[in-house]
Amino acid sequence: MKIAVVGMGVAGSYLTSRLRDFHNVVGFDRLPEDKFDAVCAWGTSKHGISQFAKDCGLNFEDFVLFDGKEMLVDLGDGKDPMGIKLKGLCTFDKRAFIIAMAKGTETVFGKTIGQNSLNGDFDMVVDATGLLRPLLPKIKQDIMIPCVQYKVKMPERPYDDFFIKPLSGLSGYFWYFPLENGCAHIGAGDYHKTHNEELNRFIKDNKCEVLKKVGRPVRITPPSQCEPFYEGKVVGVGESIGSVYPLLGEGIIPSLQCADLLIENLEDLPNYRLEVLRKFKIYEHVFRFIKAKIQGNFTLRSQLPGLISMFLHMKSQEKRYGMSIRLTDMLKVVRSV
Ligand SMILES: Cc1cc2nc3c(=O)[nH]c(=O)nc-3n(C[C@H](O)[C@H](O)[C@H](O)COP(=O)(O)OP(=O)(O)OC[C@H]3O[C@@H](n4cnc5c(N)ncnc54)[C@H](O)[C@@H]3O)c2cc1C
Repeated sequence: MKIAVVGMGVAGSYLTSRLRDFHNVVGFDRLPEDKFDAVCAWGTSKHGISQFAKDCGLNFEDFVLFDGKEMLVDLGDGKDPMGIKLKGLCTFDKRAFIIAMAKGTETVFGKTIGQNSLNGDFDMVVDATGLLRPLLPKIKQDIMIPCVQYKVKMPERPYDDFFIKPLSGLSGYFWYFPLENGCAHIGAGDYHKTHNEELNRFIKDNKCEVLKKVGRPVRITPPSQCEPFYEGKVVGVGESIGSVYPLLGEGIIPSLQCADLLIENLEDLPNYRLEVLRKFKIYEHVFRFIKAKIQGNFTLRSQLPGLISMFLHMKSQEKRYGMSIRLTDMLKVVRSV
C-alpha cells in the first residue's frame, strides 16, 4: 500500500518505522526539519516503552535523561509532600527518540497538510497530527487542558526527583520533571487556566533561567468520544483520536499502543475501531471522574466506582505506569483538592 503518515510525532514516527519495510510510506510534518520539536514534559515509564523502542531496533536506555526513585506530591495542606515510590518513571530525550524512529523514512518536513493537500496519491492517509486532526471531522465535545511548559536551569535543584502539585479542583496540575545537567521541565496545565500563577511563582522563587517556553493544550477526551476514527482513506492514530490517559495527560505510551493496533488492523479498519474502543475503555471512566471534578459536581459517593476501576486498572499495571499505586494515596489526592 502507498501510505501517507501526516504528523511525525511519537505515533507517526513509530508507525512509519514499523511499516516502511512492507509498504511504500511517506511521512509529512508541518515543522521544518531543523525546528522539529517534541512539545511534552518527556516523562514516561521505561517498562511501558522499552518494547516499542526494541521493535524499532532502538535501545530505550540510550535516551534516558533522568531515572526517578520517588515522586513527591504536594497536597497543598502545608504538610510534607506525600512520596510515591517509582517503578521505572523517567524522563527521556523524546525529540531524539522520535528522530531515531523516523530515520530511514522518506519524510517531507515543513509541509502543513490539509484536507485537499494529498489528492489521490495515496491508498491510505494517517492523521497522526495529535491535537489538531485536520483530516478527520471535528470532535463535538472536545475537552482539552491548556498547558504551559518551560525548560529551565536553576542554581540549585529545589527537588531531587519528580514533583507534582495537583491544582485546586483537580482540574490540572503543576509538574517538575528533572532532565539532564541540572535542567528540568516545569509546567502546568489547568482547565480553569490558573496554571500561570503557579508557574510564575516557581520561576521567581527558584531563580530559574528559562531556556525555552512552549504552550499547547492536551486532549483528554477519550477515544469513545473522538469518533469517527476513519473516514474515506483517512484513519486517525494517537492523540488525534484521544489516546491520552485523562488523569495524567499522559499520551506517549497510549499513542504507541494505538499505533500498534493500527499496524495489526491495517487492512481491517472496522476491527481497528473496535480494538481501540476496547483497549481504551477505562479512559471513559477516568474521563468522567476528571470531568466531574472540573465541572464542580464531584462527590466521592457518585464517583467511587470510577475511582475503584481507575485504581484497579493502574494497580494491575504499576510497571506500565512507572509507579507504585495505592488506593490510600489516590484518596488523599482526591480529598485534598
Ligand atoms: C505540555 C505537555 C506536556 C506533556 N507531557 C507528557 C509527558 O510527560 N508524558 C506523556 O506521556 N505525555 C505527555 N504529554 C502528552 C503527549 O505529548 C501527547 O499525547 C503525545 O505526544 C501524542 O502523540 P502524537 O504522535 O499522537 O501527537 P504529537 O506528538 O502531537 O505529534 C503530532 C505531529 O503532527 C505534526 N502536525 C500537526 N498538524 C500537522 C499538519 N496539518 N500537517 C503536518 N504535520 C502536522 C506536529 O508538528 C507534530 O510533530 C504532554 C502534552 C503536553 C501538551
